[in-house]
Amino acid sequence: MAITGKSPLSLYFHIPFCKKKCPYCHFYVTRDDEIKKDELLLAFFQEWDLLNIPTHSEIHSIYLGGGTPSLFGPQRVEKLLDFIFSKSLKRIDPLEVTLEINPEDVTLEKMIGFKKAGINRISMGVQALHDPSLISLGRNHNSKKSIEAIFIMKEAGFDNISIDLMYDRPHQKLEDWENELSLLKNLPITHLSLYNLTIEEGSAYKKQEKTIRLTLPKEEESLKLHNKAIEGLKEAGFERYEISAFCKNNLKSVHNLGYWQGRPFYGFGPSAFSYIDKKRNKNISHLDQYLTQINKGKLPIDFAEELDATSSQKEMLAVGLRVADGVDLDQFQNTYGLLTKETNSTILRLIDEGYLAKSLNQLQLTSYGQLFYDDVGVALI
Ligand code: SF4
Repeated sequence: MAITGKSPLSLYFHIPFCKKKCPYCHFYVTRDDEIKKDELLLAFFQEWDLLNIPTHSEIHSIYLGGGTPSLFGPQRVEKLLDFIFSKSLKRIDPLEVTLEINPEDVTLEKMIGFKKAGINRISMGVQALHDPSLISLGRNHNSKKSIEAIFIMKEAGFDNISIDLMYDRPHQKLEDWENELSLLKNLPITHLSLYNLTIEEGSAYKKQEKTIRLTLPKEEESLKLHNKAIEGLKEAGFERYEISAFCKNNLKSVHNLGYWQGRPFYGFGPSAFSYIDKKRNKNISHLDQYLTQINKGKLPIDFAEELDATSSQKEMLAVGLRVADGVDLDQFQNTYGLLTKETNSTILRLIDEGYLAKSLNQLQLTSYGQLFYDDVGVALI
């Protein structure tokens, strides 16, 4: 794989270990295992060498996701970051280096260790601040532990803390959700990602889909939960800078902005995606098979696809519109080519129907379009 010209770059490392699999989860995860973690660390180094990343690339963000990367421990994280920084790649300063963690793994000692290792942003899977929901989601923590963990991270010196919150949970009630949202203003967090629960292939929920669906909020209730979240987050001082991402003090996720704005990225580890030169690769979603390939000196690629120019343009336009600032059509066309007749007429229709607004060359979702983004995405792609 080669990057042509000067190219900003992000790095993603998939660390797939979890203590148990949550029933709604469809990510590739495997059971926690100390020996496998050591093997994975070495495999990351080998995968790096196999990729031949051009030395003129400039790293814009590093993201350790999973799985539960906090189970990797500060020492392995430090070795991984030292390895990356020992390479002669340029990097922006300050460089965002994110670690995903679960609340039950947080201790002051561990967090100080991660800080020392070079992590400067935390993304914690809180999911809910309501204990019955956490039990039904099969999580290992309660809301008290999440809140304590946030303050411990702050004490360890982290100033950029993100949490994930989920709505449309089994048996979720609007009053409980309001209470959860009201807690946010008192927490030292700078970023929040808001998701709705979906039933995906590969999750335990999928196997009991009919039963689970009976417990989920109906469409009207779901809309109320969504709107309450938008309102509650605004009241708590968060800016909505993307459909599902909210921040304070302009601390947007550099890494995620890269996904929405088409920044190339290399993904390491089992099931990780890469996006380089408009080609998308996915690594094998199986730790042992991934390790076997790496140990044979082969890239562990499961599949690769190259989007044609029109599909790539459509996809990037739809993804770019997720961001509140929208898309600068001049810049966009410089990168992805002139918009096709078909896309131009879809844009005009979506403006007419109130989903999109255009001011000079900037194309953005309206608040109505933000609410029905899925329809916008489908129309454009
Ligand atoms: S939701 Fe997170 S903690 Fe739960 S199994 Fe999936 S990756 Fe692991």
